[in-house]
Amino acid sequence: MTIAQRRSVRADLAAFLDPRSIVPAEDAAPYERGYRYGAGRAACVVRPGAIDELRAVVDYCVRNDVRFVVQGANTGLVGASNPDDRGDQLLVNLDRLAGVEDIDPLDRSAVVLAGTRLSKVNEAARVHGLCFPIDLGADPTIGGMIATNTGGSRMLRFGDVRDNLLGLEVVLADTGASAISNLSGLRKDNSGLDWKHLFVGTGGTFGVVTRARVKLHTLPTRTTSALIVPQTQEDIPQIVFLLEAGLGDLLHACEGMSRNAMRAAFRHNSSLRSPFADDIPPYALLVEVGTSLPEGIVADLDAALADVLAPAFSDTAPLIKDVLVGRSEDFWAIRHSISDGVARSGLVIAFDISVKRPELPAFRAAATRMIARDFPMLDVYDFGHCGDGGDHFNLVWSDPERTPEAERRPVIDAVRRQLYDLVVRDFGGTFSAEHGVGPSNQEFYDRYTPEAQRMLSSLLKEGLDAHGLIGNIRL
Ligand SMILES: Cc1cc2nc3c(=O)[nH]c(=O)nc-3n(C[C@H](O)[C@H](O)[C@H](O)COP(=O)(O)OP(=O)(O)OC[C@H]3O[C@@H](n4cnc5c(N)ncnc54)[C@H](O)[C@@H]3O)c2cc1C
Repeated sequence: MTIAQRRSVRADLAAFLDPRSIVPAEDAAPYERGYRYGAGRAACVVRPGAIDELRAVVDYCVRNDVRFVVQGANTGLVGASNPDDRGDQLLVNLDRLAGVEDIDPLDRSAVVLAGTRLSKVNEAARVHGLCFPIDLGADPTIGGMIATNTGGSRMLRFGDVRDNLLGLEVVLADTGASAISNLSGLRKDNSGLDWKHLFVGTGGTFGVVTRARVKLHTLPTRTTSALIVPQTQEDIPQIVFLLEAGLGDLLHACEGMSRNAMRAAFRHNSSLRSPFADDIPPYALLVEVGTSLPEGIVADLDAALADVLAPAFSDTAPLIKDVLVGRSEDFWAIRHSISDGVARSGLVIAFDISVKRPELPAFRAAATRMIARDFPMLDVYDFGHCGDGGDHFNLVWSDPERTPEAERRPVIDAVRRQLYDLVVRDFGGTFSAEHGVGPSNQEFYDRYTPEAQRMLSSLLKEGLDAHGLIGNIRL
């Protein structure tokens, strides 16, 4: 698209949009750059302030064959919320389409607009002793969370977005920008196609989410956390099994942190103190236990955790070396400082993979061996979600400047292909556990996704977005 064509798109939009809904060209840059990947150029950035305005934008795009990308909080990690570098996509940011419209405490559900931040949903729910329990180190929008089916640290207990979605309203890319809606919130309804799931985890490629009815849960009133140092990697699935069997719904999270990842957190955040008496162990589990039940029913969470872990200290075959109890906030501060700490440790080659939960130790061992053998310039800084089989198997190239830039690209391409092959082909896992599909991992979607699944996706795309206008993902 030429500069003149871009100007004409802006002028067309100015004719029917509120001036506040059009971002001046000189302020567009932050919307055009993604959190980790994605740095393109938009024909124009718009921020509709109402659903009717959004529909007018989508209708304009359909009538004029203008491609567009939808953006929530822009915290996605695969570059899917940003325009490409052709300069002809409209960027539709939904942050002004925000608000909690209704909370029904008896139904434990809320209707929210798509641009509402997770923190705002929780602020509104807290008044009723409720929460939307999907928890992560960012503050995304509900629309973005639906499009990426966000998992988070407490997925083990509360599930992902799909498990917590009761209803949806979506605007489609057809002439007139029709809206399809079912916000009735029925928990039981088998009267036909449960179409809302087409829009969960599909990166918004089939339509624009405008409203959702989400499930709320009782806000935990007490939590406690512990750091568990396993004897060996292989013992972790058994430890998770013990915790689940003994604690049931009290077990909220079971995260894993490697030594390199924890060291990076301590280096990056000087306010953190290492809770370990000696050196940082090779691996630690961060376990959270919580409840909303009164002390008359569940007396002491620390004691419950200690009881459940007691057999893991057996003299004959101990599973655990050490358990550290302390302030939950201090342990979670370590966990939440890892991402930034790793990012500052060198050139990061990030992976968001998952394998079947009991296979995680074997995968980590095989992948670590492969890196040491074939890519000695890289170090493993992984952390993740032992409770659900997810692992951010991040690799750090600490001194990339010693390798000429032209020689780095082939190394990065080779390690990505080899590692993903190991995950998907040898371990039956996935190349994208929770971040979804975007330009940064599209080639691996194309490489591993079965033909039948791709065919079904393109049939849906043709039916719902016949001109292929939405987004920059090819599902
Ligand atoms: C520090 C940090 C920690 C994170 N931790 C986790 C984690 O633990 N678990 C996890 O799952 N993710 C995690 N993420 C990734 C990210 O936060 C999630 O993917 C989040 O759900 C994206 O929401 P968003 O509003 O930022 O969407 P965006 O980044 O703006 O968009 C993401 C995708 O959704 C589409 N989209 C956005 N809004 C809509 C809409 N209304 N209708 C249709 N499509 C839409 C976009 O086009 C794009 O394809 C983390 C990110 C960061 C930066």
